[in-house]
Amino acid sequence: MRKLTILGATGSIGSSTLAVAAQNPQLFEVVALAAGTNSQKMLELCRVWKPKYAAMASQQAAKELSALLKQHEISTQVLAGEAGLCQVAALDEVDTVMAAIVGAAGLLPTMAGVKAGKRILLANKEALVMSGQMFIDACEQYGAELLPVDSEHNAIFQCLPADIQRAMGRCDLEEYGISKILLTGSGGPFRYTELSELTSVTPQMAIAHPNWSMGPKISVDSATMMNKGLEYIEARWLFNASREQLQVIIHPQSVIHSMVQYKDGSVLAQMGLPDMQTPIACAMSYPNRVDAGVAPLDFSNIGEFTFLPPDYSRYPCLKLAIDACYDGQAATTALNAANEIAVSAFLNNEIGFTDIAVINEQILNSADMTTPVDLESVIELDMRARVLTHNIIRKVA
Ligand code: NAD
Ligand code: MG
Repeated sequence: MRKLTILGATGSIGSSTLAVAAQNPQLFEVVALAAGTNSQKMLELCRVWKPKYAAMASQQAAKELSALLKQHEISTQVLAGEAGLCQVAALDEVDTVMAAIVGAAGLLPTMAGVKAGKRILLANKEALVMSGQMFIDACEQYGAELLPVDSEHNAIFQCLPADIQRAMGRCDLEEYGISKILLTGSGGPFRYTELSELTSVTPQMAIAHPNWSMGPKISVDSATMMNKGLEYIEARWLFNASREQLQVIIHPQSVIHSMVQYKDGSVLAQMGLPDMQTPIACAMSYPNRVDAGVAPLDFSNIGEFTFLPPDYSRYPCLKLAIDACYDGQAATTALNAANEIAVSAFLNNEIGFTDIAVINEQILNSADMTTPVDLESVIELDMRARVLTHNIIRKVA
């Protein structure tokens, strides 16, 4: 029986995780749930799952949840603030932490799970993008087991030898005969839109992804392909890959979730319906397989597979992220912070869709790029980049 803490329980990944747990009640026990501010949604989850603990990011939401639980006579213990999120990630009675808070807010709670030596199911790519080698080193130092949940990285993971699977971020791909990791992406909702029309894209249009159903931030990131850029950086760390070993390919059907090319000419691909319950179930039950509650792939219905190289004039954010990856940790931490602020400004109708890339680039050109050496300096740089981004947005708006 795996004992779970789910960080980001009220979100898209959180609910898919609970769906896999519901499908396999004999294998998973939900010990703790954590989320941001939606106390009503958390109450609903507590009614169904009766977790021992529930943590809310804000004191206000924790207070609301306590009152609601009392009203419904549910004995779940409520924890509050970042300390509460970190506490549920490190509980002695938990062995597995689903890290699915969105954005930089997930870094410290996820690291709390790492430092407690848990099995970490990593959906929160921003945490790894922000901290890179520090995250990988901490996993080794504290004996945490890192398993990728992001569908592409989970696909790659499934196509790799077991030795590499058991030492994420620390293996030499070449030693195992691997020549390339092929990171696929759908190209998002605007892959065929006239470039001149991108300036008039609204938040509603951007979050309507053709193949995947996801939270608002990652949906906008998929439309700009910043998501693929963040995933490129994520892959660089998870698979210890060099520039020559990483390639992005557009595959509009989203059936192949990524591939690994070996030096003998073999290419291994993982396929499935675009449903996060598959990679989540794979990570939750590793090395076993469980029923994810996902329909089988029906090849007679797929038609054809197509592939094309990414066009950086359509996806400037992808180029920014790949460049930042090789500029170093300061650039990726600052870019991640700028992008979070810019995406939220776009979702609030304060800036246009194409402004996101313009603002991200300005931050990369203007932030003080002293390489962060520990988590404190990562967080400090993240904060500085946020302030700078807010200032630029005020000018644009
Ligand atoms: P979402 O917006 O649906 O959910 C986000 C969750 O984080 C919610 O539970 C929310 O309450 C919580 N949260 C937000 N701010 C918080 C804070 N300050 N403190 C604590 N909790 C906070 O997002 P999602 O789509 O589920 O994505 C979650 C993570 O998984 C992201 O990092 C995303 O990149 C990654 N991911 C998502 C998908 C997907 O299909 N949705 C796929 C791959 C990776
Ligand atoms: Mg992905």
